[in-house]
Amino acid sequence: MKVILLGAPGAGKGTVAKLLTALDGSVQISTGDILRGEVQAQSDLGKEAEGYMKAGDLVPDSLIMGMMEKRLQQPDCEKGFLLDGFPRTIPQAEALTELFGKIGITFDMAVNIDVPKDIILDRLCTRRTCENPDCQAIYNVKSNPPKVEGICDKCGAKAIQREDETEEAISHRLATYNEKTAPLIGFYEDKGMLLSVEAVNSDAVIEAIKDKLSL
Ligand code: ADP
Ligand code: ZN
Repeated sequence: MKVILLGAPGAGKGTVAKLLTALDGSVQISTGDILRGEVQAQSDLGKEAEGYMKAGDLVPDSLIMGMMEKRLQQPDCEKGFLLDGFPRTIPQAEALTELFGKIGITFDMAVNIDVPKDIILDRLCTRRTCENPDCQAIYNVKSNPPKVEGICDKCGAKAIQREDETEEAISHRLATYNEKTAPLIGFYEDKGMLLSVEAVNSDAVIEAIKDKLSL
């Protein structure tokens, strides 16, 4: 499947993407994960992106588009992909439409994962992320804690609170989401490409997507 996942930070895009990859071997492409990997590696891109990310600001569209143009042309994308955290702005969505045209990709749909705001806030404050860039497993201190506090079950690295998951950075990220990213819901709706799901849990989202794609 070739699907764009939309939703506020903490809506569960990453979780849904991971569950979907297991369905048909499509790859998850998380711009946040790629960027955190670049920062860790202190690549040129990582150095440029770092400051924006720490503040909870969006990384400039030009950097993101260059990165995604390369990523979407890698052979593992042929089978299908789940875009998680991209596009994030109307200019990115327009550039993506153009890029899809240029490299001959037809996508299935954009899925809006619709989660109430109070649940989002609570989730983000209690989220912990594995700091190993090759793992980035996600935990929640309340609902899904690692077996040993602060240690990733999967790889043994530290499971930490991300620097952009302090309360201040979170409210800033949510404001940025409302201003810059929420308009994408209308953008894809106008194209007749939107599936909106009120997400009580990730399984409900998976079922709605399977249904829509007759999987
Ligand atoms: P979340 O999973 O909470 O939605 P991400 O891991 O997707 O957050 O992104 C973390 C940070 O990486 C963002 O706050 C932003 O700085 C940057 N980022 C990720 N994707 C994009 C994008 N498509 N455009 C601009 N910045 C991005
Ligand atoms: Zn890990």
